[in-house]
This record gives sequence, C-alpha cells and structure tokens, in this order.
Amino acid sequence: MALRNIVKEGDPVLRKTSRSVLNFDEKLAILLDDMKETMYKAEGVGLAAPQVGILRRVCIVDVGDGLVELINPVIEEEEGSQEGSEGCLSCPGESGVVIRPMKVTVRAQDRNGNTFKVTGEELKARAFCHEIDHLNGIIYKDKVIRKD
Ligand code: ZN
Repeated sequence: MALRNIVKEGDPVLRKTSRSVLNFDEKLAILLDDMKETMYKAEGVGLAAPQVGILRRVCIVDVGDGLVELINPVIEEEEGSQEGSEGCLSCPGESGVVIRPMKVTVRAQDRNGNTFKVTGEELKARAFCHEIDHLNGIIYKDKVIRKD
C-alpha cells in the first residue's frame, strides 16, 4: 500500500464527473488499498477517488464501524433529514452545516464486482452522500447553509 496525495479545493479534478468502473482488476484493488491507507492516515471518515486525482466512481467510508468500499455507488433510497457540521479532507481546517438525509440505502459493487446494498444512518448516511457527491464533481461547500 502507498499513501496518495489528497488534492485540495481549487484543483479542477474535484469538479469533474467520474466515470464508472468497468474492470475489477488489480489496479482497482491497489487504488482501494491506497485510498484506505490515505484516509486513515488523514483521520478522515471518507475518501473519494477524485480526491486522489482518479476520476473513477470509487469511494470508501469508515465512520468507526468498519470500512465500506463502494464501487459505482447509487443512492437508492433516502429517508428523513439531518442538519449537521461537515468537513472535507480536500478543504482542511474548514467546516459548515449541511442538510443530508437521515438514512440512505446505497447500491454498489465491491472490489470483485459483486453488487450489494448498504444502509447508513446519521453520520454514515452523511458520509455516503458526501463521498458520492465527489463522484459528481460536487463539494460539500456547494450545499452549506451556514458556517458553524
Ligand atoms: Zn470530501
């Protein structure tokens, strides 16, 4: 595994739409392993591939209950809403209040290409939404309703 550089706000790569993963190969496994190491080292709860300069629909989340790897994720269901503080490893030292669903169910593929569903509530739902937004060139700041 290797640490990757986390790109910062202002880098155009963060504003592009990522392409779907078609090949579930060794290259993808290495990307996921590197992202994991990079996220834990930075003490983040989520990281999306564009944040390491790779425009592929890949993100990872770990809010403290284990790592979830999401390839080609799609939010299938959402329920309720929550208002809370959010930050991003690409915007260090900043945060703001964002409204997110309280609960989301995501359909995705794992690193072997198998489809699965995962449901997250509260912080996990927020992290899923935040990371999937990155795959569409959206930064949480686009959705901040006020500074906290
Ligand atoms: Zn982020």
